[in-house]
Amino acid sequence: MEEKVLIVKYGEIVMRGKNRKLFISRLVDSIRKNIDPYGAYYVEREQGRLVVESRGGEMDFELLIPKITCVLGILGVCPGWKLDTNDMDEIKGKALSHMQAMIGQKPTTFKVVTRRSNKNFPLDSNEISAQVGEYLLDHMEHLTVDVHHPEETLYVELRNATYVYSKFIPGFGGLPYGSSGLGISLLSGGIDSPVATFMMAKRGVEVEGVYFHSPPYTSERAKQKVVELAEILSRFTGSFTLHVVPFTKLQLYLLEEVPEDKLTIFLKRAMMRAAEEIAKEKQAQALITGDSVGQVASQTMQAIEVINAACTLPVLRPLCGMDKQEIVDLGKKIGTFEKSIEPYEDCCTIFVAKHPETKPKKSVIEGIEKHLDRLPALLEEAVKNREIITL
Ligand code: ATP
Ligand code: MG
Repeated sequence: MEEKVLIVKYGEIVMRGKNRKLFISRLVDSIRKNIDPYGAYYVEREQGRLVVESRGGEMDFELLIPKITCVLGILGVCPGWKLDTNDMDEIKGKALSHMQAMIGQKPTTFKVVTRRSNKNFPLDSNEISAQVGEYLLDHMEHLTVDVHHPEETLYVELRNATYVYSKFIPGFGGLPYGSSGLGISLLSGGIDSPVATFMMAKRGVEVEGVYFHSPPYTSERAKQKVVELAEILSRFTGSFTLHVVPFTKLQLYLLEEVPEDKLTIFLKRAMMRAAEEIAKEKQAQALITGDSVGQVASQTMQAIEVINAACTLPVLRPLCGMDKQEIVDLGKKIGTFEKSIEPYEDCCTIFVAKHPETKPKKSVIEGIEKHLDRLPALLEEAVKNREIITL
């Protein structure tokens, strides 16, 4: 029996060690979550590979491949064939029909590469490659062998079953999701923070999002947009938890109490503190923000210094050295940009100063903050009343 399958390759080296099983089962779960809506599939574990098989019906490679290559930790996907046998005649036959389907009559250089984990097999990998190659040359006039720079490489892998494929479609790569600890990401509905969240997730950091919501100054639709951004991020990570922290009371309090040109600084410091509370509760190692140095008034080096001083955990700012266009490009590539530019504001204009201070002084800010008696209680209340959404 033969069937169309997708062979999924992941970074094996980082998969070693005691967490290997956990990472692999996370990959399996993430793949399943992304492809289940499109049909009934198995995800089988092979040595160092995952194999996606259909439970009946043809597999739609074009539809499924992007749903799999986006899962972080996956190196790439190979569409190909699984044969329920190690029989050489059947392997040769499949190699031929596969190559015919791939290149038709086009003059092409090729080579065959064999991997054999079934060590009982009477032929070694070079012998298998030679025999399959010879068979292809006998049956396809336009083929020539080029072992150094072939246009097509046909892979034959003998495991319990035999796999035949030639294409490798690269994924996003990255470290297995969750292999680098936990980070709490301040996720707004803007362009930057979803990209920052993705970048840390790609380095294996498990991420949970925190969104500060100020109804009615920020609309229900603005919140929904952040939920939808979190959903997009969950395609890369498998699942995604979003904490929606009600910030209206605290924001109105600050509006009342602090100089207008410094409002954003106080607000950002409050956000860092609230996020840190959640991070401590979850035993996270870091916060994550979408700051990019110099982009806006609250992202000057001076502002970053003062905002950063509000918390003790390290704050990862993966976009800090990127230009806006670079961030936009990455946002487009991962599919968050189009959602981010939907016109639902993430901050109401009454909270935005006309002339925000760009060079705040820590001593001044801390001096004022000392007298904000209700701030600690408002922070505590906001964190306590948060809504937790799991995607
Ligand atoms: P973004 O495009 O990510 O919204 P921005 O360019 O609008 O960023 P700022 O408003 O200065 O920049 O925000 C800087 C960072 O602070 C954001 O990237 C995000 O990490 C965090 N942040 C800002 N507003 C919110 C919010 N309402 N909820 C959660 N995080 C926020
Ligand atoms: Mg923003």
